[in-house]
Amino acid sequence: MADFSPVLNEDQLGIQKWVHGFAEDVMRPAAEEWDEREEFPYPIVEQAAQIGLYGWEFMAEAMMNDPTGLTLPVAIEELFWGDAGLGMAIMGTGLAAAGIASSGTPEQVMEWVPQCYGTPDKIALGAFCASEPDAGSDVGGYRTSAVYDEAKDEWVLNGTKAWITNGGIADVHVVVAVVDPALGSKGHASFIVPPGTKGLSQGQKYKKHGIRASHTAEVVLDDVRVPGSCLLGGKEKLDERLARVREGKPGNAQAAMQTFEATRPSVGAQAIGIARAAYEYALEYAKERKAFGRPIIMNQSIAFMLADMATEIDATRMLIWRAAWLGKHRQFKNAEGSMAKLKAGRVATWVTERAIQILGGYGYTREYPVERWHRDAKIHDIFEGTEQIQQLVISRAISGLRIE
Ligand SMILES: Cc1cc2nc3c(=O)[nH]c(=O)nc-3n(C[C@H](O)[C@H](O)[C@H](O)COP(=O)(O)OP(=O)(O)OC[C@H]3O[C@@H](n4cnc5c(N)ncnc54)[C@H](O)[C@@H]3O)c2cc1C
Repeated sequence: MADFSPVLNEDQLGIQKWVHGFAEDVMRPAAEEWDEREEFPYPIVEQAAQIGLYGWEFMAEAMMNDPTGLTLPVAIEELFWGDAGLGMAIMGTGLAAAGIASSGTPEQVMEWVPQCYGTPDKIALGAFCASEPDAGSDVGGYRTSAVYDEAKDEWVLNGTKAWITNGGIADVHVVVAVVDPALGSKGHASFIVPPGTKGLSQGQKYKKHGIRASHTAEVVLDDVRVPGSCLLGGKEKLDERLARVREGKPGNAQAAMQTFEATRPSVGAQAIGIARAAYEYALEYAKERKAFGRPIIMNQSIAFMLADMATEIDATRMLIWRAAWLGKHRQFKNAEGSMAKLKAGRVATWVTERAIQILGGYGYTREYPVERWHRDAKIHDIFEGTEQIQQLVISRAISGLRIE
């Protein structure tokens, strides 16, 4: 087991520099345009694919050949420093890939994860479809059903999924559905819906507050039939798990919790990338902008704000890196992944708001990027588990009690 160290190794420094270069040269100049267009930025994702930044090989390399767990958050921080909407367009497929990797057999992972990304010449997209119009945090409230048609060895999916990143435009959709409604959240299973499957369509496309270059839409499933082989993990395993749960034995909640905890540092890294962008911009601005005959940074009230911003960002990065390392070694004790994500969302929202304050009137206009960064930051208090859901997970972990 590699020791935890906040000092990046040569490989990690190389990846950090490489992603930063793409963020600076390609993403930053394109960010405003795609935010205004509110469309999926295919040319940017294609460019990322051409250099190997968008693709399953990069994700596999960053996750599997890294004993520290830090490579992925380091790369993600740089991407989101470049731009969060474009960053989400590049990272969104990773949600589907993670869904497949966490529930699928090794054969399913090998078959479907590469299809989520396509090739540099013909990119594909993946979508992970869990949330529903009436159930986001409350996963026990999902209603999308999956019924097994034994005669045809097919599953039939019906329901509506809400706020799905890449929903409807993805080639591969990973859908969480209810196979036994009596078991609540323990009666779920995940399915691959292959490209071009009949009955899957895009519902409304949402107009959003931030990360507007990332596509978010409803996914409607109307008698969608998928082969039995599209059940992630396979029927035998599902039947065994359901039988265990019906007998009152534990399902795989522990494993699922470790998986969720392990993905949260990456979401935290997104948030901290945005926060760092806003802090750096505000620092430079405060040195340039003069009021009452001196740069505004010469006022303690501005300088101390920047000192607090820098401190919060660095402290949060340490929480993220600690959580990434613990996740890599499956060593979570007190929901440290949730702690990192909770803190990162709050810090990004706060830092970007302070950046607007430091830029004053200019900060409030679309002439300057800090208002966009503030809009982009807020999603990190909401998706992948809201602020309150992270508090719930942490409070249960530290107390050992079923806090409601
Ligand atoms: C841009 C965007 C992209 C997304 N991408 C995806 C995606 O790709 N795939 C996917 O499946 N989902 C996705 N989501 C959905 C996201 O995960 C949900 O919006 C989120 O989990 C919150 O669910 P909700 O919106 O139903 O809010 P609710 O669960 O209705 O929560 C509303 C409020 O009540 C609070 N609350 C709820 N329950 C409790 C409780 N027990 N205790 C205290 N407070 C509580 C919440 O914290 C929140 O403040 C995305 C959402 C957005 C906005």
